[in-house]
Amino acid sequence: TTSTETKMSEKVTTFLARKHGLFIDGDWLPAVSGKVFDSFDPGTGRVIAQVPEGDAEDIDLAVKAARRAFEDGPWGRMTPSERGRLLFNLADLVEENAEELAELEVLDNGKPLSNARAADVPLCADMFRYMGGWATKITGETLSISTPGEYHAFTLREPVGVVGQIIPWNAPLLILSWKVAPALAAGCTVVLKPAEQTPLTALRFGELAQEAGIPKGVINIITGFGETAGAAIAAHPDIDKVSFTGSSEVGRIIVKAAAGNLKRVSLELGGKSPVIVLPDADLSAAIPGIARGIFHNSGQVCTAGSRLYAHRNVFDEIVDGIVQQAGQITVGHGLEDGSQMGPLISPVQCERVMGYIGQGRDAGASIATGGARLDRDGNFIEPTVLVDTRPEMSVVQEEIFGPVLCVMRFDDDDLEQIAKQANDTIFGLAGSVWTQNISAAHKLVRRIRAGRIGVNTHGSVDATLPTGGFKQSGWGREKGHDGLNLYTEVKSVIVSL
Ligand code: ADP
Repeated sequence: TTSTETKMSEKVTTFLARKHGLFIDGDWLPAVSGKVFDSFDPGTGRVIAQVPEGDAEDIDLAVKAARRAFEDGPWGRMTPSERGRLLFNLADLVEENAEELAELEVLDNGKPLSNARAADVPLCADMFRYMGGWATKITGETLSISTPGEYHAFTLREPVGVVGQIIPWNAPLLILSWKVAPALAAGCTVVLKPAEQTPLTALRFGELAQEAGIPKGVINIITGFGETAGAAIAAHPDIDKVSFTGSSEVGRIIVKAAAGNLKRVSLELGGKSPVIVLPDADLSAAIPGIARGIFHNSGQVCTAGSRLYAHRNVFDEIVDGIVQQAGQITVGHGLEDGSQMGPLISPVQCERVMGYIGQGRDAGASIATGGARLDRDGNFIEPTVLVDTRPEMSVVQEEIFGPVLCVMRFDDDDLEQIAKQANDTIFGLAGSVWTQNISAAHKLVRRIRAGRIGVNTHGSVDATLPTGGFKQSGWGREKGHDGLNLYTEVKSVIVSL
């Protein structure tokens, strides 16, 4: 464990030891209550920093600042290209501080440093750059109308206003970028609450926003808990829109709270994404692709491919291949050399996942590999593959959010039947199809009820690819042009000539 300490850079050690504030109206303030809470390293269980515990009063201050910045500040008077330029500055600063951000993310969230370096941080920068490009391309339409008489009719796209954004702990910096970048590109102002488990990269990001020249009050960051600070965002009467990523349970709570002032709501919720392997699939690509699709980030990914349906002709080879891949994954602290899979976020999450594995076993599933905690400090669970699973089992129906793959076999080639099994879920976030038959691939793409489907890949988090849910996986699409449109209102204008 001292080995992880020695690997921390001086910048990170200094940042962790600092007295952290809430970022409100361009200032760093203690919580009104004066309370603070601990942030833990999930790879050791140790406290790494203390941050202010914001609640309803702090949210209110942040909303007032965001409202002022929206109505009266320089923000609303900036040209789109000036706004875009600030987003490009932010992208540059994220890149310049990439190593520090990556290390902080590892310490707070647990993911391997290689992942944070290769994915979370560069993809965050990319998102700011992508949305910075949109800032100058937000347009309405000219309409050809049928009302008798002569008219000029068109639409404007205007910023939705003050937005509240509540984010989870599994990819804190990256998901921050999916929310903050489009909101700023559209001209909104933001009150952001990171998850209580992972407040640190958001706080560092607040400093970078200052450095980038984002005017005060445009981005406000309140660290705190869901039931207090989060709930205050969802219920606040002066927030125009709330965007939430997290569990479906909390999504429902947000919707109810948002009903008070009928704020706009977008939600990215749970998933139980199907992975379908047809008998002609290229298994040399499918096996590692499917293993990554479930074991990446220890399975703590909403789009994780957690239900595998494999044709009987390839079933044994697929299961053997994935079991072998699972056995080769180096599980360890995110800062350890060669670590490929980190801990789960918390002891609670560890117990939840172990609980599901137990339920699966009790219901008759067999463990092909894994299924146990690692005998060391931190919240480590082995990559796990369950076979002999049946549709009604909780491990097949519910989102586990851990490194647990359920494998099912299908015997016939009827694509309708296969799609039916894939769609036998309350969720509809993602899915993938592995085959070399182009016609079968496209037929399945059309039949699977989910917001993002990969063919011969389980997907990507590219800034241009909208992601979001059918069914109980959410409302709206983040990223891409659709993700930008979540932050605009359409106004139609008709001029009698
Ligand atoms: P998980 O169960 O994976 O931790 P949650 O959905 O509970 O996911 O958390 C995602 C985010 O939602 C976190 O920032 C959390 O603080 C916040 N949150 C939790 N409960 C509430 C709530 N009642 N109202 C608003 N936000 C909440």
